[in-house]
Amino acid sequence: MENLLEGKPIAERIKNELRAAIATINKPIVLASVHAGENGGADAYVRSQQKTAKELGITYQLHRLNGSVREEEVIECVQALNADNAVNGIIVQMPLPPHVDYTKISASIVPGKDVEGMCPENIGKLLFGAPVVVPCTAAAVMEIIKSGGIDLCGKETVVVGHSEIVGKPLALLLLEELATVTVCHIGTSKAGKLEEHVEKADVLIVAVGKAGLIHGEWVKEGAVVIDVGINREKGKIVGDVEFETAAQRASLITPVPGGVGPLTVTMLMRNLVSLVTQGNA
Ligand code: NAD
Repeated sequence: MENLLEGKPIAERIKNELRAAIATINKPIVLASVHAGENGGADAYVRSQQKTAKELGITYQLHRLNGSVREEEVIECVQALNADNAVNGIIVQMPLPPHVDYTKISASIVPGKDVEGMCPENIGKLLFGAPVVVPCTAAAVMEIIKSGGIDLCGKETVVVGHSEIVGKPLALLLLEELATVTVCHIGTSKAGKLEEHVEKADVLIVAVGKAGLIHGEWVKEGAVVIDVGINREKGKIVGDVEFETAAQRASLITPVPGGVGPLTVTMLMRNLVSLVTQGNA
């Protein structure tokens, strides 16, 4: 398909840039990963991080905690990694067990080792348009848009989903590019207004986690469609957008799998390398 925006070639190009940057750093680079409890999705994400780290020559340190771990114990684990000079970056895998508050955990990571860009200081820098690290999925979406040669200035850009890790940081990044940004969420659907917002979008980005939420015929002719959603349906991985019908109307569209997904881990490694080269980690 001619209008397909695939993540893998972009990820490969960025990994080559990272290899070149890593070759100039005369010390081992260590990413510490804290993973509490059992979760199939997180396990798959960890495996993918391990694989990418190996490809780049980055040491991946996995710290496994059991699902009944107390919140203070997770914070103690993070603080020990903050203090460990051999560790350059820290990622805490999501989802955490329900009794552990992610806001407190992300706030316990020192900004210079926060590879996900989610601690308050790094989110603050993003707000002011000067981030050192950008939340990985939002960064992946921006890379895909850039690779499509899309000028966002003044474009009607609709983000569906307002989570802390995707929709909210993405809205800030899009504003930096002077896009006209509308953020839709569960409240928009409850008000019966999702379709009317989606129909206006020159650039549509969907990150919800509901297969088929966005009907293909809602997509404006010539729109750019970025589908972040990952859903398992009848043994297959699908996005949030009805792909076949949307692809007939879109000028560019990401597949699921193979769109945003392959880039997210690469963005994590880019954040790590940025922290090391800027002397933060
Ligand atoms: P989340 O559950 O934190 O947030 C979901 C968002 O969807 C919320 O803003 C909620 O208001 C909105 N929503 C829920 N139902 C809705 C409806 N009917 N209409 C409109 N909005 C609705 O989710 P998340 O962590 O941001 O993840 C979203 C999706 O993106 C998931 O499928 C997840 O697996 C996927 N994801 C993919 C990557 C990747 O690398 N490709 C990374 C992160 C998340």
